[in-house]
Amino acid sequence: MCEFCHACEKWQYVRFTVDHTVPLSLGGSDSLENLALACFHCNRQKTNRSMVFEADSGIEVALFNPRRDVWNEHFMWSADRLRIMGVSAIGRVTVVALDLNRERVIAIRQADLDLGRHPPGGDRIED
Ligand SMILES: [Zn+2]
Repeated sequence: MCEFCHACEKWQYVRFTVDHTVPLSLGGSDSLENLALACFHCNRQKTNRSMVFEADSGIEVALFNPRRDVWNEHFMWSADRLRIMGVSAIGRVTVVALDLNRERVIAIRQADLDLGRHPPGGDRIED
């Protein structure tokens, strides 16, 4: 499962990638504590960033780091289970920076929902 958007690798036709949560270019290492499984899209959108500026406040905020942060503390699924909602500053900037609710993935989530294989068990869902 992509540790950012929670897409399941099992149903994808492209293998997932290994993301350096702290990019090598920013001093991150190849140790397991710095690696996360990421789908191609999330890894490409994240590029070599670990911080981004929040649009509304202009404050620099850390992107979600799966080795440090707990997904359910920063994100939840919308009530219709199609969109990831940021529930913290980290979650909100990550949703935007990684474009976690792009049109194409919404359609895939809808199809997976119809098949009963979305969202992943244990994920927080809006009431
Ligand atoms: Zn992803």
